[in-house]
Amino acid sequence: MMNLEPLFQALISEPAFRLKQAQHFIFHELGSDWSQATTLPPALRQRLSIDFPLDIDHKLYRSKDGRSIKALITLSDHAQIETVLMSHGGRQSLCVSTQVGCALGCLFCATGRLGFKRQLTPWEIVQQVLLWQRYLKDQGEKVTNVIFMGMGEPLLNYDHLLEAIRFMRSDDGFGLGSRRFSISTIGIIDKILKLANDEPEINLAVSLHATTDAVRAELIPFHENYTLAELRRALVDYLKLTKRKIMVEYIMIDDVNDSLDDARRLAKWLRGIICVVNLISYNDTGVYAPTPPAQIKAFKTELETLGLEVTQRYKLGDDIAAACGQLAGHDANS
Ligand code: SF4
Repeated sequence: MMNLEPLFQALISEPAFRLKQAQHFIFHELGSDWSQATTLPPALRQRLSIDFPLDIDHKLYRSKDGRSIKALITLSDHAQIETVLMSHGGRQSLCVSTQVGCALGCLFCATGRLGFKRQLTPWEIVQQVLLWQRYLKDQGEKVTNVIFMGMGEPLLNYDHLLEAIRFMRSDDGFGLGSRRFSISTIGIIDKILKLANDEPEINLAVSLHATTDAVRAELIPFHENYTLAELRRALVDYLKLTKRKIMVEYIMIDDVNDSLDDARRLAKWLRGIICVVNLISYNDTGVYAPTPPAQIKAFKTELETLGLEVTQRYKLGDDIAAACGQLAGHDANS
């Protein structure tokens, strides 16, 4: 059970069914104002609005094409996190943050430049999904997929993340099935294997971004801790345990990781690994340049010729500073 401690405290002297009613109001009716929780007595509603307020302090930024919206949420300690809603092909997919900032300092990532501030609590992780559930309710829609690919390295906040997912999966939460969740990691090997044992039905995405140890260590300083060969072994072990297709994320950066030789090395590295490769246009965060579209196409064709399944993530609007950490970074610096 997730730690909704302030809610439990507020209801401690009430009969047990009040907690169920309160949770139903929050996670099923998606109410944001206790005064509308008509199943609860007025005095209790008033107390809850003080002890466990439901408003989520946030600002929305819409992309010009209208397909993605980013929310910048301000938490109770004034820390800021980002979460994005992407609507495409009838799916309502969320990108959700797990930490304030990030310790890993990947060179292509705006969040990495913020440094690590703190872990998000399970409730702060759930709140991001709650925000979008409320937003989508007005349009007769619901969240269909959640990927933990926002600010932070999800597997370095493993316990809180799993607590949040287990709650969102439960009937007390949103009742979202395990397969609707994906965890995107830079490759924390021991936690990948732990996840395979603990929750084999949750999807795994690995941010690979390079085909040699030298380039990967340049882009992802954390890569110094292990080699591509060790990461590959972890993925093979993960597959033995889960039999679930892995998503391999690959950011296309001009003249860094986007040559046809890279494509061939990538195909070789992935031989025998059940996966889909997702090519992502680099969102310019000022350090590198994005690969030109023609080169992305050639890279994709090469991978496909070598037998890989490849998708291309449509680019989130630059107009909402879609690379994670850019809004929070901007607000923090302004
Ligand atoms: S890419 Fe992920 S792991 Fe790397 S700095 Fe950004 S948030 Fe952290």
